Amino acid sequence: VRRVAPRLGPGAEFDRIRAIFAGLGPAGRGLGDDAGLVRVGSVTLAASVDLSLEGVHFRTGWLSFRDIGRRAASAALSDLAATGARPLAVLVSVGLPPRPRRVRGDPAAEIMAGVGRAALAVGAHVIGGDVARSRHYLVDVCVLGVARRPVRRRGARRGDGVWVTGSLGGAGRALAALRAGARPRGALWRRFARPEPRVTAGRWLAAHGARAMIDISDGLVADAGHIAAASSVAIELDLGLVPCWPGVPPRVAAASGEEYELLAVMPVRFGVREARAFRRATGLPLTRVGRCRSGSGLRVTDQGEPVSPPRGFDHFAP
Ligand SMILES: [Mg+2]
Repeated sequence: VRRVAPRLGPGAEFDRIRAIFAGLGPAGRGLGDDAGLVRVGSVTLAASVDLSLEGVHFRTGWLSFRDIGRRAASAALSDLAATGARPLAVLVSVGLPPRPRRVRGDPAAEIMAGVGRAALAVGAHVIGGDVARSRHYLVDVCVLGVARRPVRRRGARRGDGVWVTGSLGGAGRALAALRAGARPRGALWRRFARPEPRVTAGRWLAAHGARAMIDISDGLVADAGHIAAASSVAIELDLGLVPCWPGVPPRVAAASGEEYELLAVMPVRFGVREARAFRRATGLPLTRVGRCRSGSGLRVTDQGEPVSPPRGFDHFAP
């Protein structure tokens, strides 16, 4: 039997995506990477769509409309970054409740100004969209780019190193503060409200031999699980190696979602010298957090001892 459905890690959300793949049957093609990849002549077009919903992904009391748009677009662009693509264009569908009386300006224009800001920051432009009345605010962002050497989730091999850009846990810490009624400030606030899609980093890693990549939206552990499943390898993560946001414990950092850093699987020859070159090129640290082994699934260790994997975010977790 030919395997049609791509492989994802465990979880209720991914069970639903598996069911969708099965329902699509032969209509689906090349599913399961951060962006869909379509060969057009001599270039590969990378396309992705990302939905941000009021009450699920953001609250209007937490973020300005401008930051809501900017963050939604950055999340979508992060998926392009994970394939090593260069962003070109953005299209947006916006769901809008009736215009609020006490708000100055139109939230729709504010949201789109934020989208435009995120697009320009990576050299892309807004080329179209749609609006509809809605009970809640909704921002659905479609991004298009081109990749010279597209990177998928499925190329990891036994012995390869598992690397992470930047540091993890800041977005989760800010979200926890907001949920507790506090208002995070400074760098922590920016980390949550204005994530920067790692486009330059993704292109650099793709050009330097990345075998597999994914952006950290579900949490390091869950996203490493997707790479392991797609590549038919086991991934061993060492919690002690995880680069953490100041004050965030490794277990929490490894489960934190919406971090929008990249997890990249690099060949065994890629080492600290190459990681230093990456830092010079991008301004970001690159840290090895584990290694691919033969087998399947995820093994998490802490100081050499196996521990249970911390859980990431799942939209449909019971
Ligand atoms: Mg992704």
